[in-house]
Amino acid sequence: MKVVTTVKEVKEQVKLWREQGFSVGLVPSMGYLHEGHASLMKTAKSQMDKVVVSVFVNPLQFGPNEDYDSYPRDLDHDIALCEEQGVDLIFHPAVEEMYGKNYNTYVVMETLGEELCGKSRPIHFRGVCTVVNKLFNIVTPDKAFFGQKDAQQLAIIKRMVKDLNMNLEIVGCPIIREEDGLAKSSRNTYLSAEERKAALILSKTIFLGQDMVKNGERDVKTLLDAMKKNIESEPLAKIDYVEVVDGETMQKVEKIENSVLTAMAVYIGNTRLIDNFIYECE
Ligand code: AMP
Repeated sequence: MKVVTTVKEVKEQVKLWREQGFSVGLVPSMGYLHEGHASLMKTAKSQMDKVVVSVFVNPLQFGPNEDYDSYPRDLDHDIALCEEQGVDLIFHPAVEEMYGKNYNTYVVMETLGEELCGKSRPIHFRGVCTVVNKLFNIVTPDKAFFGQKDAQQLAIIKRMVKDLNMNLEIVGCPIIREEDGLAKSSRNTYLSAEERKAALILSKTIFLGQDMVKNGERDVKTLLDAMKKNIESEPLAKIDYVEVVDGETMQKVEKIENSVLTAMAVYIGNTRLIDNFIYECE
């Protein structure tokens, strides 16, 4: 496995692979890799000849008061995990390599990027779309792999690929959880022992909502009232949002029909965590 830091090196490697007829998959990440990321790599390995993982904490997707500086980083650990998963190339650029002098081009997702997480993180998806676009242009993958954990991000990337006629397939991969249910996240490392216990309220509430819908509940207000009440029972939790939206457009719905996304962002102390479930009506 190679670890490279420049766009030129990635392009040269991909060119060689193309000459040999290999298909190429991309797993974009911000590093501090865990089993959630590993599952994306596994899926990528099972479908592609060569797999590239990008490890880049993208400053563009963090707001001024967010955790860009404190975001956990551990390249040695990331290299070991990628090696274990049989990854072929890690792209680990410096910020200057991605956003050089006079950098001035951004990709903006309008309505989809303004809902849910977009309300409290107004520049977030502009940063995500911009960096993912750049990574697609650098790596030119046949397929790119994203986690359902970031459901809005996945919907936005799929929209961007469709809207801009991009020449690749986006593959969504299921949420990987800790044994007790908490969705795996690099940000879980911010939690104190007490907060870690309190954070279980997210997955417990997701499972509660999922059960209600499976048992036939179709009224969004009833579902959201029950879910919010459950979260509010945890003193360390503060709701950013809990919403039920159309899985493609991210617009609020009143009745559960077709494919709906129930998504939440909840602060546990100062740490903002997200979780969700998708329900496809038959
Ligand atoms: P990040 O490093 O947080 O930007 O995540 C990189 C990719 O891994 C994104 O596509 C995430 O959705 C995905 N991912 C992160 N955590 C999980 C998880 N627990 N289960 C599945 N995918 C995940």
